[in-house]
Amino acid sequence: MDDLQFGNRNKRGDWAPTAHLELPPFWRRPFSLPKVLAWIPEYLFPWNALHMATALIWWFFVVPDVETMQTLSWGWALWLYAVNAAAIFVFYGSVELFWYVRRKQGTRFKYNGKFPSDQPSDVFWFKSQNLDNFLRSFFISIPLWTLVEVLFLWAFANSWAVWLPWETHWPWLVVLALISPAIHEVHFFAIHRLIHVPILYRWIHSVHHNSVNPSPWSSLSMHPVEGFLYHAVAFWHLIIPSNPLLALYQLHLAGFGAVNGHIGFDKLEVTEDTPLNSHAYAHYLHHKYFEVNYGGDGLIPLDKWFGYWHDGSKDGEALMNARFQKKKERMNAKAART
Ligand SMILES: [Zn+2]
Ligand SMILES: [Zn+2]
Repeated sequence: MDDLQFGNRNKRGDWAPTAHLELPPFWRRPFSLPKVLAWIPEYLFPWNALHMATALIWWFFVVPDVETMQTLSWGWALWLYAVNAAAIFVFYGSVELFWYVRRKQGTRFKYNGKFPSDQPSDVFWFKSQNLDNFLRSFFISIPLWTLVEVLFLWAFANSWAVWLPWETHWPWLVVLALISPAIHEVHFFAIHRLIHVPILYRWIHSVHHNSVNPSPWSSLSMHPVEGFLYHAVAFWHLIIPSNPLLALYQLHLAGFGAVNGHIGFDKLEVTEDTPLNSHAYAHYLHHKYFEVNYGGDGLIPLDKWFGYWHDGSKDGEALMNARFQKKKERMNAKAART
């Protein structure tokens, strides 16, 4: 596909889409019902449907029976870790293999014109972003993902949380499934904004931001505190009356869904003429400019409400620069006072 029909490439080889990021249509005015209806399939497919599909597979084929989960033990915890790690290896690994190792698409639709493996840097373990990100994912974040999973399954198995059956409570559970991505958005925005507070940023979140030019392995490359808080989104289902399947879905939206922000390509050419939208641009801009777009795509537009939204346009850029300028002035004034 010709990516220049959809965007522009600058002298450095970085590509940017012509279309700016837009909030989901129910936030836009004037309200348009046809636009909302047209947005629903895009909301469900393919990504949220994929995360629901994996949650169903885990629930029916991976998660042990309730009696086993009533008691904590290494056996079933390690089994869950092995399956989670294998699934991420295959899922993230296949994007990495085809788009970053074999580079089947070259740099078409790639926001940053360079590949991380061509840019060794001292900030990474072994000077390699790939190796650093890979090791942090498999030995820090996926174990913490599994810890969260074990804890909520253990809580459900012991009836410490409200376990609503589908037969009697399906209307509420369907609503909860539909708003789970919004729960993710609010939880992620809150913890993410928190770890951008300077002292926490230096201690915790700078690890994730070492990857200025993210690739799939960057998705779960996190400090342990962030790795735990990020996956802890599933614990909302211990507070809200829910069902363990939905807690799993919430966990998969976080764990598997993290790749969306870090794919690095706007569209994946699955075949020559079948582009798959990655929804990666908002979070790519976060990795590029740091203090914009703390949430995701604006499903709940917290970034917009707090003034952090960068939609990729010239106006978005100007708003961001005005905010940075004000911050600089505040810091200079503070320095002058002390
Ligand atoms: Zn990120
Ligand atoms: Zn960040």
